[in-house]
Amino acid sequence: MGTLYPSYLNLLESGELQRRADRAWEMLESCTICPQNCHVNRLAGKRAVCRSATEIIVGSWNVHRREEPPISGTRGAGTIFFGHCQARCTYCQNYWLSQDGKGQQVTPARLAQMMLFLQKRRVHNLDFVTPTHYVPQILTALVIAAAQGLRLPIVYNCAGYENMETLALLDGVVDIYLPDAKYADDKQALRTSKMPHYVESNRQTLREMYRQVGPLTLDADGIGVRGLLIRHLVMPNDISGTPEVLRWIADELGPDTPVSVMDQYFPAWKAHNDPLLNRRLNWHEYRAAVDAMEAAGLTDGFLQEDLMELDHSDAV
Ligand code: SF4
Repeated sequence: MGTLYPSYLNLLESGELQRRADRAWEMLESCTICPQNCHVNRLAGKRAVCRSATEIIVGSWNVHRREEPPISGTRGAGTIFFGHCQARCTYCQNYWLSQDGKGQQVTPARLAQMMLFLQKRRVHNLDFVTPTHYVPQILTALVIAAAQGLRLPIVYNCAGYENMETLALLDGVVDIYLPDAKYADDKQALRTSKMPHYVESNRQTLREMYRQVGPLTLDADGIGVRGLLIRHLVMPNDISGTPEVLRWIADELGPDTPVSVMDQYFPAWKAHNDPLLNRRLNWHEYRAAVDAMEAAGLTDGFLQEDLMELDHSDAV
């Protein structure tokens, strides 16, 4: 029999998807799901950086039309926003969900129902946002949903801060990786997002994702089928180290690696009190990021159409 699509159907048939879910749950006993490596027993209800034990918090699940064009397509992405997070980005625009966990608590069976509900809405894919700390629960839900007819490809929309064992469990499960490349400097990553050793972890993550799926490929209608699309949020005062991030991607993964260079930073949550982060980008800063993309030799990706809506007050 030929290879099935989405790829998790192959793993479902062989029983491997259930084995992956079982292994992921075992990892919660001394949690190393992500590079925070907290080693707490989440199965016993202990919580650490992500404030999560075994329950799942979902903030919303709906059709989302504002992702990049190959993800949203014409019918939208089926986006599920998860609560809590492995990071503490001081500027988080969803802090009510990522930090305060103000969503609804659901079981894997309920999460599977949400996936199937979104499929009925005819979305192009399932877009899991901030999924990392819930990989065991998501795999269990996927076993249930796939057995009941789920056929949507999976988009794994994350901070780009993954452990290799967790990514190995997702090999052949995730069709499209949509990770961030947030910083080029560990000091900034720690100060602003409380993610230790981010740069090396991020680079290892991106390499492994690229190895699994390659650069993003599209179908005849321009909809993403499989591959890696990296996101980079340009931040004020180059906190994000944009030229170095983009250069590394071009040099290490290849100039055809698609990158979405985003301009929508605005100060939220604690960033209002941070003198380096308490404003939006100015025109020069986003222009410099666009130039850096060109200088790095990156040939594929997305720039923001609302560039011209940026504050031009200090533009020449
Ligand atoms: S998933 Fe949560 S508890 Fe586990 S290592 Fe990451 S932050 Fe720590």
